[in-house]
Amino acid sequence: MSRDLRLCRTEEDTIIMVMLSKKVDYPGPIRELVQQLRRLPGIGPRSAERIALWMVQTPDARATDIAAAISQTAARIRPCRQCGFFAEHDLCDVCADPARDRSALCVVERATDVIFLERTGTFSGLYHALGGKLSPLDRIGPEDLKLDGLLERVRRDRPEEVILALGADVEGEATASYVADLLSREGCRVSRLAQGMPAGAGIENADDLTIARAFRGRTAFRP
Ligand SMILES: [Zn+2]
Repeated sequence: MSRDLRLCRTEEDTIIMVMLSKKVDYPGPIRELVQQLRRLPGIGPRSAERIALWMVQTPDARATDIAAAISQTAARIRPCRQCGFFAEHDLCDVCADPARDRSALCVVERATDVIFLERTGTFSGLYHALGGKLSPLDRIGPEDLKLDGLLERVRRDRPEEVILALGADVEGEATASYVADLLSREGCRVSRLAQGMPAGAGIENADDLTIARAFRGRTAFRP
């Protein structure tokens, strides 16, 4: 590119910048809405703009309903006093349900893990969300997890089994061993979820560690 052409481009850019700076933008309330929407996770500038314009241009957008749902949810939802899952009252729907099996307690990392397990319909006991996992790199130690609450529950309710449903990553493994050690000192029977082959996929789709764990955790074949 010649020097003249580069100079020309620079001048052209300057003119465009000046034109852009004088361009009319959306009125203040729309700009404010776009700014607020951009704070939401996964919403970039273009998505925020698209949603804001949809709200002001669509006659049946019912923006007040959306606004009310957001503010009411934030005000009414709190962590369950016992397990940490989302609750509208002191106890969540799981803890308050008398039909749940109180002899089994499943320990998970996050409150959202409860939903994933509940959707499988395979567990009917109670849960305890730790609120994270041990991670020295992120400076998350045992004092940052809800371990006191777990010990308190175990001592009080004496569940027959505590099932660790923690992640299979390094931090999840470290958390599982720490919690298992803590609970076994309480004379508690501790188990963990089996690790194995991913459902609906061939052996070629599994990584080495998954295959190694699947071998170690193999079970008797019942045709
Ligand atoms: Zn609960």
